[in-house]
Amino acid sequence: MSNCIFCSIVAGDIPSQKVYEDERFLAFLDIFPASKGHTLVIPKEHHVDIHAIPADTYGAMASVAKNVADLLMNKLLSEGTTIMQMNREAGWQTVFHLHMHVIPRWSGDNLHKPWDIKAATDEELEAVLQEIQRL
Ligand code: 5GP
Ligand code: ZN
Repeated sequence: MSNCIFCSIVAGDIPSQKVYEDERFLAFLDIFPASKGHTLVIPKEHHVDIHAIPADTYGAMASVAKNVADLLMNKLLSEGTTIMQMNREAGWQTVFHLHMHVIPRWSGDNLHKPWDIKAATDEELEAVLQEIQRL
C-alpha cells in the first residue's frame, strides 16, 4: 500500500535491520526500542489491524513471533518476553500496518505494565459476560 511505512520496509524502499524473513512475514528491529532487541513482526501483505486480517494469517504471524521470541531469548540471554499488539487508535496503534511487538525482558528493567491493578467485583464480571454473550 502506498504511503505505508511498513510496506515501504517490505519493498526495501526504507532500510531495516532484518531479524527474520520468509515469503509471508518479516521481523525487523524497532527504531524506538523499548528494550535491547525489540522486534516487530509483520505480514508482508498490508493488513491494517487484527480486525482486518484473516484468522489463519494472524495465527501464522503469531507463530513467527514465537520463533523470534525464542531466537531473541537464546541470543540475547533475555529472562522474559513481553508481546504487545496494538489495534486502532483507541488501542494505541500508531502505524496502521498490523504488527506484533516482541520485547525481550530482563528482571529489573525499566518497563511498566500499562494498566493499574484493580480487582473487579463478581457483579461487574457477570455483567460484562452477559453483555458479551447476549444474542
Ligand atoms: P505501534 O505504536 O503502532 O504499536 O508501533 C509502531 C512501532 O513502529 C513503534 O514502536 C515505532 O517505534 C516503530 N516504527 C515506526 N516507524 C519505524 C521505522 O521507520 N522503522 C522501524 N524499524 N520502526 C518504526
Ligand atoms: Zn502496509
